Amino acid sequence: MKNKWITIRAYLYHLSFKKAANFFVLYLSFMLSRALKKPIHWGFPTTLSIEPTTSCNLRCPECPSGLRSFTRPTGMLSENLFKQIIGETKGYLTYLHLYFQGEPYLHPQFTDLVSLANQAGIFTSTSTNAHYLNEENVQKTLDSGLKQLIISMDGITQEIYQEYRVGGKLSKVKEGLGLLLKLREERNLLFPRIVLQFLVTGQNEHQIPEIKDWAKEMGVDELQLKSTQIYHFENGSELIPKDLKYSRYISDGNGKWKLKKKIENKCWRMWQGAVITWDGRVVPCCFDKDGYYVMGKVGEQTLGKIWKNDKYRAFRNQILEDRKQIEICKNCTE
Ligand code: SF4
Repeated sequence: MKNKWITIRAYLYHLSFKKAANFFVLYLSFMLSRALKKPIHWGFPTTLSIEPTTSCNLRCPECPSGLRSFTRPTGMLSENLFKQIIGETKGYLTYLHLYFQGEPYLHPQFTDLVSLANQAGIFTSTSTNAHYLNEENVQKTLDSGLKQLIISMDGITQEIYQEYRVGGKLSKVKEGLGLLLKLREERNLLFPRIVLQFLVTGQNEHQIPEIKDWAKEMGVDELQLKSTQIYHFENGSELIPKDLKYSRYISDGNGKWKLKKKIENKCWRMWQGAVITWDGRVVPCCFDKDGYYVMGKVGEQTLGKIWKNDKYRAFRNQILEDRKQIEICKNCTE
């Protein structure tokens, strides 16, 4: 709980009247849209995910970066494009997640990008597989002003870890995490807050008690046990844990599987934020990994223009009318 409060405090510290007012009008337009069943959209994105790169060192089975299965181009975000986005959004952006697909630390200027956003007064966060947390990168991370670092670690032994993080070395993750915590303490810093994220699957659920003990021993700020999104869940999967508390899916009683949560014709994410790929494509959310629903391209147009264009409006309208007609929304627990 303590970590959540420290993170919330940092988030609030970056708020301004303009950002808070923007958040309020976004929420108001979301509620009105739901009531009237018509997409009304005031305000600008309050959160963004920006993809530093699609490159990744691992081969995780439920990830198109890992499977090398993207149909969209792969590459690295340019500093110019990033500056342009930050310049346009800094007045109302309350949360920037510098991650979408790929491993962010493979971007050669990754920590410079974080510094840039931090200097613009934006709360920053990222996710990593922690294979590149050497001393130089750790020091740069501590200097960058990053507020939250989510580290993916889905096993406490190499054998189980590599079941999902194919090609990964658990010893590197543990070393990098240990170094980060040690140097943060030595430098007497509070940030970045370290969140250890454990994607619970049928292969690793038996290690939950051990990961809890280990996280406590290491002194990580928070451990998150997260359910795993599975692309083809209808016929079951070895990735679905036995303990359905950690599953997004349940049996339908006829030998098939279905989403646990009832799909409703709404989506707050569609009103509050967007995802931008390394080459500037604006996609609705992180479920659109291959960029199937591109709303426009920053660099060619401003985000503000894209955010209110006809394509976005039609997409939001479809969410309100019948969300199940949108392919990515069928497997979403939002
Ligand atoms: S998949 Fe659809 S419902 Fe889910 S967050 Fe994205 S747009 Fe919203």
